[in-house]
Amino acid sequence: MRLACDPHTHTLFSRHAYSTLEENIRAASAKGLELLGTTEHYSAMLYPEDDLRNFQYYENLHVWPREVGGVYLCHGAEADIVDLDGNLFGHDIRFDYHFSGRRFKEPRLLKDIVSKECDYIIASVHDRTFARAATRAQMTRAYLGALDDPKVFILGHIGRSGLDVDYDEILIHARELGKCIEINNHSLMGPRRASSYPRCRAIAERCAELGVSVVTSSDAHISYGVGDFGAVERLLDEVRFPEELVVTRSRDAFLAALDAALGA
Ligand SMILES: [Zn+2]
Ligand SMILES: [Zn+2]
Repeated sequence: MRLACDPHTHTLFSRHAYSTLEENIRAASAKGLELLGTTEHYSAMLYPEDDLRNFQYYENLHVWPREVGGVYLCHGAEADIVDLDGNLFGHDIRFDYHFSGRRFKEPRLLKDIVSKECDYIIASVHDRTFARAATRAQMTRAYLGALDDPKVFILGHIGRSGLDVDYDEILIHARELGKCIEINNHSLMGPRRASSYPRCRAIAERCAELGVSVVTSSDAHISYGVGDFGAVERLLDEVRFPEELVVTRSRDAFLAALDAALGA
């Protein structure tokens, strides 16, 4: 199966990633990818203070060309799920002023400012503190709530997060909304593999059985990792994953699924 899109990658903006946008695009083009999604971390891990000047990156995304070197460019964010309702980072951070100093007519939420120009959002859990005392039902509901966000198209690396949830309930809700579960190459590599692999494999098997769409991604934090799907390909082969559920098989399939889910 050909995996033609990489919808989850990071650039220098994510602070613990190392390449520029241009370097990632060159890598994607050299590997023959049809679509590259740049999804910077959007969470409390970036900056210690809530200051809109730190997030102005998201207000100018329209300057990107749509296609470079044969690669269609999507821009988005990888937003942290921050509570048991499935809210995303910034949902409760309000600003009265634009970063240029102009006063807003009405206060605006960081989450709305950031997501406005995003083609889609990947919702992920990184800091699990909020989930520490949660029951299985509560944590499941958090993922369901995140899926309900109108900009969320993908649930990021739910296998790696390792939270105790009812996977079937989450997968079925994703299917109802036409949204995608991520099969993340990074989760299947290096030190993460031992704990993540069995969960990621079980999730892939259930997606196949329930007819849930998936995206495959590198989650690259350096250009050399863009389009690196070796471990994902092996996993999909092992479980004989049906190709028609892999929306990253082509740019057209990815964009059609995105349009159907978010009405972009
Ligand atoms: Zn990261
Ligand atoms: Zn990521």
